[in-house]
Amino acid sequence: MSQPNDIPSLDQVHSGVPARLRDDAIYAKKSSFALRTIPLSKPRQAPLRLPPDTSREKFDAAIVALKKVLGEKGVELNDKPLVDGWYMEHPNTHDAYHIVDQEEMVCSAIAYPSTVPEVQEIVRWANEFKIPIYPISMGRNIGYGGAAPRVPGSVVVDLGRNMNKVLKLDANNASCIVEPGVSYFKLYEEIKKQGLPLWVDTPDLGGGSVLGNAIDRGVGYTPYGDHFANHCGMEVVLPNGELLRTGMGALPGKDGADNPTWGSFQNAFGPSVDGIFSQSNFGIVVKMGFWLMPDTGHQSYLVTFKREDDFQKIVETIRPLALKRIIGNVPQLRHSIQELAITGKPRSTWYTGSGPMPREVIKDGVSKLFFGECAWVFYGTQYGDPDSISSQLALIKSEFAKIPGSKFYLPSDVPKDHYLHQRAEVCSGVPSLKDLEWLNWKPNAAHLFFAPITPTDPKAAYTVHSIIERLYEKWGFDIWPTLCFAGREIHYISVVVYDRGNEEEKRRARCLMREMIAETAKEGFGEYRTHLLFADQVAQTYGWNNQALMRFNETLKDALDPNGILAPGRNGIWPKNYRGKGWELLGEKGMESAKAKL
Ligand code: ADP
Repeated sequence: MSQPNDIPSLDQVHSGVPARLRDDAIYAKKSSFALRTIPLSKPRQAPLRLPPDTSREKFDAAIVALKKVLGEKGVELNDKPLVDGWYMEHPNTHDAYHIVDQEEMVCSAIAYPSTVPEVQEIVRWANEFKIPIYPISMGRNIGYGGAAPRVPGSVVVDLGRNMNKVLKLDANNASCIVEPGVSYFKLYEEIKKQGLPLWVDTPDLGGGSVLGNAIDRGVGYTPYGDHFANHCGMEVVLPNGELLRTGMGALPGKDGADNPTWGSFQNAFGPSVDGIFSQSNFGIVVKMGFWLMPDTGHQSYLVTFKREDDFQKIVETIRPLALKRIIGNVPQLRHSIQELAITGKPRSTWYTGSGPMPREVIKDGVSKLFFGECAWVFYGTQYGDPDSISSQLALIKSEFAKIPGSKFYLPSDVPKDHYLHQRAEVCSGVPSLKDLEWLNWKPNAAHLFFAPITPTDPKAAYTVHSIIERLYEKWGFDIWPTLCFAGREIHYISVVVYDRGNEEEKRRARCLMREMIAETAKEGFGEYRTHLLFADQVAQTYGWNNQALMRFNETLKDALDPNGILAPGRNGIWPKNYRGKGWELLGEKGMESAKAKL
């Protein structure tokens, strides 16, 4: 790991930090190491994790063959000590936020293609040697498995390192085409450099791949917050090496040019196939088009609510506002414990006891902050010209004012260092690093996301909320809900912050996840996305009509990838050569027994 002030810059490396955020990055890096008690790396128990059913001889021969395609520098063995690093210097060797032993979810090697034909060659190579490959774009999928392959010993295909160009930026059409290694930071800087009046919708942290996040169906917070819904056309390498374009790109442009309507119309002609390349293992996406939001006026605000029990009233107030699209973006309702966490101070500032932080302690801590006593905080942003923003805000204010004790604030009402200013940036398309600060909560902090979807309905949301509250208490974690409202549904994002250095705590975090998945499913609620290790269980909950959906996915998988080489097990989809052989992880028990395989 480099020195605290050594920050990888975006000028030097595709995954780097833009100059404007250098100071934030230095601060974030220092803080993340200040609370670290585990060593930066430790000697490995097994120096190299081979792919399943592969001898060392066969593996070595395969690597020699792969190097013939990619050159000596294009292939790297994963045989050195594992380093978790930090957000901006993340590993492509394993899951930096390990929830099982650090050494369990590792690849055998990393391949670095530079061109689409090289990606096709890698796929052909994998079919020839029957070695599983696992594509990543940036590998910063933190909380969901990072860069780790589902099958240990797979060869990770790191697309981002050498394929990271903004291929097209069309100001007239407000769209772009990007390669896998383009981060939100990079796309934003490119737009600024060209002086275009466009926004890039960004998640809380801007270091992820625009393409990778969209195909994992990640979300942001402007009106373009549904990233997959705002993509337009893909280029995909299929598991047999064939190259496919979806959408209008499938129609060749004049004289061999790209189709001029690639960035304008999503569905084109015939079945819309794009969806099967998201959250799946049916293809490697090498180019993807996106719509960008035209620059517009914006006004962020927040509303505080005094009582924990206001939950259902708040959801009921938001429901019509969200449904009628009066609320301008994807707003967040956060539990006030997060007001403590986003100060960047460790939880020990308020509580040193064991078990979850008691509600009284949270209440007391929060009441000493700027807003005084509050249990929930709503962060929203309105868009448009000043007149329409003020009429929207008048309506929103009057609706929330019906909840006794609620208070409305604009950024000009709060201190300069309050998180609202940060939200205002993210909600107007400025990618940042600020959201790393709550990771100072615990030593060696890492997080998992439990992310069920509920209708925008107070009872439904409360059912899920109550299950989550009860199980967090049972397994000893601090409650951490963020509800993201998108019209008719809520992404209820519940963060589990755990200490990576504490095996017992990791076990409890896994148990918590498993029980939440099972109990919410019993009530009819399912996750929109999950960490690799919980994907089998989540996939199984979508089991209507005797697992009809999974059987359909397996039919596709077997047809497209008969040798089962591409990301086996991703999103619970196992190719036929893996099925029924104990790879599926459905519970902690399964996790233990699968350890022999892991
Ligand atoms: P990010 O860095 O944007 O958070 P990743 O690169 O880790 O995201 O991508 C998230 C997940 O999506 C990966 O773990 C991988 O399974 C899948 N993925 C990423 N990029 C591709 C791609 N280009 N083609 C197919 N699957 C991909």
